[in-house]
Amino acid sequence: MAAQKPDDSLEKIATEVRGCPLCKLARTRKNAVPGEGQISAKIMFIGEAPGRSEDEKGRPFVGAAGKILDNLLNKAGIERSQVFITNIVKCRPPNNRVPEEDELTSCRPYLDRQIALIKPKVICILGRTAYASILGGSSMTVNRGKIVERAGQKYFSTFHPAAVIYNKNLHSALEADLKKLAREINKEEEENKVSLEDYS
Ligand code: URA
Repeated sequence: MAAQKPDDSLEKIATEVRGCPLCKLARTRKNAVPGEGQISAKIMFIGEAPGRSEDEKGRPFVGAAGKILDNLLNKAGIERSQVFITNIVKCRPPNNRVPEEDELTSCRPYLDRQIALIKPKVICILGRTAYASILGGSSMTVNRGKIVERAGQKYFSTFHPAAVIYNKNLHSALEADLKKLAREINKEEEENKVSLEDYS
């Protein structure tokens, strides 16, 4: 993971992303989608790439997949306003095709800078494309619904909310995963509170 650059900020990254010329998606996008949320977010959600609604609005997860995510976050007791949501690729690939290698490579430094600034307790990876790009490996199955740690960063992987639109069986699995993620975060907060009290 990249170290935080002095003077970097989420706003600076967002401005650079909005004007980014680095790959061919710059020629077909309406709006780049840097991501949104709090610098103090404990959880950072990372999806694949903006879709049509996101490209129209310049905001992540505001279309059909976003409605599912919002609903399940709500059920898990996770407030959207308290997390940070972004994608591995910040511009919409034509016809929502899977992002290509050169697009992933050009876009990656923006994501690494966002992670370096936010320092999330857990990165929640949504779907196999983001999983493969961030953790490597084509199958998410072994790590799905679990916290795994790499280079001091915790990751939790689950299904992409759009997958739920086409496969209703995944809905309850995604719901259960997000509830588990909320429990993990709450557990960690409790443990931190206890260890701080030990020293007070
Ligand atoms: N799908 C994604 O992966 N990201 C979005 O922002 C919207 C849909």
